[in-house]
Amino acid sequence: MAKHKNSPTTEEIDQRVHNGADSPAASAATPASADASEQIGNLDEENPSGETPYDPPPPPRRVSAYTVALGQLERVSDFMNLDDDMRVYLRTCQRELIVHFPVQMDNGAIRMFTGFRVHHNMTKGPTKGGIRYHPDVTLDECRALAMWMTWKCALMNLPYGGAKGGVIVDPAKLSKRELEKMTRRYATEISPFIGPERDIPAPDVGTNAQVMAWIMDTYSMHIGYSIPAVITGKPVAIGGTLGRESATGLGVTYITRAIMKQRYGRSLDDASVAIQGFGNVGGWTARTMHERGARIVAISDKFGGIYNPRGLDLRQLQNHVQETGTVLGYNGSETISNSELLELDVDVLVPAALEGQITKQNAHKVRATIVAEGANGPTTPEADQILADNGVLVIPDIICNAGGVVVSYFEWVQGLQSFFWNEGEVRRQMERTLLDNLDAVIGTTTRRKCDLRTAAYIIAIERIQEAMRLRGFYP
Ligand code: NAD
Repeated sequence: MAKHKNSPTTEEIDQRVHNGADSPAASAATPASADASEQIGNLDEENPSGETPYDPPPPPRRVSAYTVALGQLERVSDFMNLDDDMRVYLRTCQRELIVHFPVQMDNGAIRMFTGFRVHHNMTKGPTKGGIRYHPDVTLDECRALAMWMTWKCALMNLPYGGAKGGVIVDPAKLSKRELEKMTRRYATEISPFIGPERDIPAPDVGTNAQVMAWIMDTYSMHIGYSIPAVITGKPVAIGGTLGRESATGLGVTYITRAIMKQRYGRSLDDASVAIQGFGNVGGWTARTMHERGARIVAISDKFGGIYNPRGLDLRQLQNHVQETGTVLGYNGSETISNSELLELDVDVLVPAALEGQITKQNAHKVRATIVAEGANGPTTPEADQILADNGVLVIPDIICNAGGVVVSYFEWVQGLQSFFWNEGEVRRQMERTLLDNLDAVIGTTTRRKCDLRTAAYIIAIERIQEAMRLRGFYP
């Protein structure tokens, strides 16, 4: 998450937007922005995740994201009575690229890296999806994340299919120079797959605006001129959009607030919130919910979690994380484990780290009223059933965290037109897109008598089916 500065909060900007103080017109000049600085992310840091005195606990065995994605599709296919041909078509990724490439490390040694880029479905347009740097990246994980992007883009009515990519690496263990070289070589290896009309990557776990800038520059160098629209989530100075870095977390907040009002007739004011993950999504969800009155009682990262039932001071916590590289050791909190965080008795639980966190092993211990999925695929289908039986409302990832891809779409449009919007316009369009599609999902839950995830999938799949019917099958 970007540093706190003496700039208006996202809530103050929203109020300006709703009061009409921000001109709705697009602005060609870069406006003075409340969060222009946010776009910088952690560009200045030598090591993207920082040195910490802690070792992360050994990761629990995670459920395969691909198994979860296929299971979810299967359940909805049964519910919709989809025919077998359509099921096979939708569960299959259209293109899959595996690359192995050398990078010369700072000590002169050559190290081989493995990376992926997967296009799931391109019926509705070029594909869109993040790039992940993490030691556990696999082809199957990219397939799952690409599928989720297809549903998410269709649900948001964006002219995109889904994609995902990644490199098997712990970016915290590379120097900045090694990270840049690895990124540029990975971008070169996947360059036949990407392009502004073909496939447009964005940040995900372990990548940030600086990594996007290197990919944009590498691709542009190959073509011979600048092509900002090849990637989103770039810094504003090279064609990024205002409001992108906060977009996913702010979207989680908008959607959660709307659901709380619609289902429980209450606001975020004094709602207790626990958040797993304190990166881009978790950090901005914490900040934007807190700005709207919520009490953030627990936060974790890969090293463990912290808890204070009276609420954490996010500004101080951010400073602590900048100094130490972890939330652990923050004054005025007790240490808890990641699994304990998931079991806290809170109004809202936001898993915002990795997939496969709420499973049939721990779902019965979840005591939150709402699970707002900031991460992609944090809940398995078996866990979904247990949570539903226990009256826990799950806001599915493909709507809950869609703010990021919605604003990425705005960034792409601005890049293609070389005509840039002010921040109020970005926020207004994002909120409208999210809430209009949330209304459609809620309407479908009533009409089809189903939960939010099933309703979201039905809308997405029906939109893709319609596009397929109109295009036909080539040849
Ligand atoms: P990030 O790298 O910025 O942050 C990840 C956070 O999770 C870090 O705080 C890390 O320490 C923590 N973490 C890692 N392993 C953990 C574990 N085992 N237990 C607890 N915490 C752990 O990543 P991000 O961009 O915030 O992405 C988080 C999730 O949100 C991913 O599922 C990603 O696919 C999804 N997502 C991201 C975006 C986006 O715009 N960045 C958009 C939509 C969805």
